[in-house]
Amino acid sequence: MLSSSLRLSSKRFGATSRLLSTAPSLKGDYTIVDHQYDAVVVGAGGAGLRAAMGLSEYGFKTACVTKLFPTRSHTVAAQGGVNAALGNMSEDDWRWHAYDTVKGSDWLGDQDAIHYMCKEAPKAVLELEEFGLPFSRTDDGKIYQRAFGGQSLKFGKGGQAHRCACAADRTGHAMLHTLYGRSLAFDTTYFIEYFALDLIMDDGKCVGVMALNMEDGTIHRINATNTVLATGGYGRAYFSCTSAHTCTGDGNAMVLRQGLANQDAEFVQFHPTGIYGAGCLITEGCRGEGGILRNSEGERFMERYAPSAKDLASRDVVSRAMTMEIRDGRGVGPKKDHCYLHLDHLPAELLAERLPGISETAAIFAGVDVTKEPIPVIPTVHYNMGGIPTNHLGEVIKTNFTADGKFESDEVVPGLFAAGECASASVHGANRLGANSLLDIVVFGRACANRINEITKPGAPIPALPENAGMDALKDLDDLRYSDGPIPTADIRAEMQAAMQEHAAVYRTGEVMSEGVTKLDSIMAKFKDVGITDRSLVWNTDLVECLELRNLLPCATTTIQSASARTESRGAHAHENFPDRNDDDWMIHSLGYHSWEDEKTVIKYRDIHYYTLDEDEMHTVAPVARVY
Ligand SMILES: Cc1cc2nc3c(=O)[nH]c(=O)nc-3n(C[C@H](O)[C@H](O)[C@H](O)COP(=O)(O)OP(=O)(O)OC[C@H]3O[C@@H](n4cnc5c(N)ncnc54)[C@H](O)[C@@H]3O)c2cc1C
Repeated sequence: MLSSSLRLSSKRFGATSRLLSTAPSLKGDYTIVDHQYDAVVVGAGGAGLRAAMGLSEYGFKTACVTKLFPTRSHTVAAQGGVNAALGNMSEDDWRWHAYDTVKGSDWLGDQDAIHYMCKEAPKAVLELEEFGLPFSRTDDGKIYQRAFGGQSLKFGKGGQAHRCACAADRTGHAMLHTLYGRSLAFDTTYFIEYFALDLIMDDGKCVGVMALNMEDGTIHRINATNTVLATGGYGRAYFSCTSAHTCTGDGNAMVLRQGLANQDAEFVQFHPTGIYGAGCLITEGCRGEGGILRNSEGERFMERYAPSAKDLASRDVVSRAMTMEIRDGRGVGPKKDHCYLHLDHLPAELLAERLPGISETAAIFAGVDVTKEPIPVIPTVHYNMGGIPTNHLGEVIKTNFTADGKFESDEVVPGLFAAGECASASVHGANRLGANSLLDIVVFGRACANRINEITKPGAPIPALPENAGMDALKDLDDLRYSDGPIPTADIRAEMQAAMQEHAAVYRTGEVMSEGVTKLDSIMAKFKDVGITDRSLVWNTDLVECLELRNLLPCATTTIQSASARTESRGAHAHENFPDRNDDDWMIHSLGYHSWEDEKTVIKYRDIHYYTLDEDEMHTVAPVARVY
């Protein structure tokens, strides 16, 4: 079956394979299969599928490489919905959505990218409707839109907006299946269950990607004019998170290995309502439908922290409020270390219609009947606001610095694009609003395809591979495959996750973070002594988990070092020694660089885009105190 599909791809695309058994630096033998494409997309979540579909539709010969079957990507787990100012529930305007997004980002977001995303949002959601996404409906047949955190009307002055389009509480599931089904109408070649190892760069330009076929161990060298990274987030750097086990920052780490940056990594979103103990997500849509949080005294405490928005204040605000309640001794449970989310005052029919998925999740993972009892919840790592820096067109950015290390200019990395949670455009800045990520993935996945179509043409000559292209990646793979150190992957991973959980939490002090930096350095040093026991190349999960750990580690260290360096509080970064936002010094993006060779992480800074795409259409939103 497999060899016939390989033969098929060889015949169809002229792929060539050869056995590389003589390379003196390698311990193992490898079969390398060469491919050529106009574009290769790494990732088949919402962002990757939308990019691949768009590229194929424009006529580009497109490959999509994914370590998971597409519909198993983490997008499938998204519950709450996708924001767009459709105006189905009340009057709405994309500029109000943009205002909320800038405010939500705590003024770290790039306002040109926010302008682009919010303006494109209605188009993107209606396009999904046309593709067949089974949205929930209003009585008159329009797409139903629920209330979600941080969403307002009239630039914060018109009360709560109902802007979040949803398919009950399974919106990501509906979206991913719709996109995958639709994408099959186009001629994308899927490399399913292939693990992308590294980018192939030539003199600063990206010319493709190296991948391992996990099923048979063949190595695939995909030479492409354009490469789009859509590899998702790295929630698994933490012990307790809502993200799938596969969210390991592979794309971010590939970029770091090329000397490029991971931007704003310190901004890690804690979702207020992960199930206590299990970590599974209970969507913000619960509070959008009327759910409320209570402490051990039965008090609806959010009324004190966010008098207007209450339980629907933005996520960083609610997570901090819950942490304060617990710290002040008003947590629930025997250890008084979590809070309750009540849905039991809502009509059972509403729960069955709008929140069937979480009703089931709460029953399975918390043993709770939501119609009768509250759900035990705790802030849980959920989303990486930071990522691979891009402009609003999806092009990856490299920043130049003056001799004394100050920001000088940005330039585009030719041939390289990024979209979705692995990227930082930056629309989310220091804090993402709920339901803005499902939007980000479709808008910027599509933007990558559009930009590629603007700057290259299908069938244009594909840049030649440099000499020995991809051999460093193969050498790294070979080294790990034969690694025989005393420390198993799982031990180093557990140490990293515990350190991140403890030292880069909802609240952070300078002391706790600098201890974390030292811990992470020593954990990273242990990776030299990692050992795996399976040397085969057929479904070697031992090897793949080790490759994933190698990717998580630099994501973790750039996160904690960027956090430790930022001496202010902004969005999700709550620094207890510097509780205020400091716009004079810190309205700048952090850029984390990591070199394995030098065992060094360096943090530099880049100017934010404090301007919109067109001042006549949308004014730049000036910073003010962020209250909800
Ligand atoms: C439980 C949960 C609920 C959420 N709910 C919402 C919501 O309601 N609304 C909202 O806006 N956002 C929500 N989010 C956030 C949002 O769902 C994600 O940020 C978004 O779906 C990420 O999409 P993506 O395409 O960037 O990546 P993913 O969907 O994570 O896909 C990543 C893809 O990359 C591939 N990949 C990764 N590494 C490699 C590699 N080395 N080689 C090959 N392939 C690779 C994987 O196979 C996968 O196909 C939620 C997140 C979680 C965890």
